[in-house]
Amino acid sequence: MTSDLEARLRAASLHVTRPRLAVLAALRDHAHVDTDTVISLVRAEHPTVSHQAVYDVLRALTVAGLVRRIEPAGATARYEARVGDNHHHLVCRSCGAIADVDCTPGHAPCLTASDDHDFVIDEAEVVYWGVCPDCAAKPSRR
Ligand SMILES: [Zn+2]
Ligand SMILES: [Zn+2]
Repeated sequence: MTSDLEARLRAASLHVTRPRLAVLAALRDHAHVDTDTVISLVRAEHPTVSHQAVYDVLRALTVAGLVRRIEPAGATARYEARVGDNHHHLVCRSCGAIADVDCTPGHAPCLTASDDHDFVIDEAEVVYWGVCPDCAAKPSRR
């Protein structure tokens, strides 16, 4: 599995480094995690990797397109390694849980705006807000 991650780095013209592999591996195994979670996952395996190194790696991988940063309004930024398919997200208003949703019309990302106002569109982001099953099952305090 590590060689697959190395191949991803090389394909993006990035040097293969231990912190980069560690961050990619953490995101491969844990979708939609925030920076603090990435740091603790990486440092559990590689205690010598600094917080700053993880920040730097997350930024480099995001710029290179190997990692997608999602920022639901009012929530902390999360990262995931599932990139390139422009999938959407369900976000729980109560606990912040995030789930992936495939693009509804099918294969193509829904980039066709009904009126593009002459913008050149390269990405469409859809966030479905609601309540996750765990939160919905909790007795309400009303
Ligand atoms: Zn929830
Ligand atoms: Zn996702």
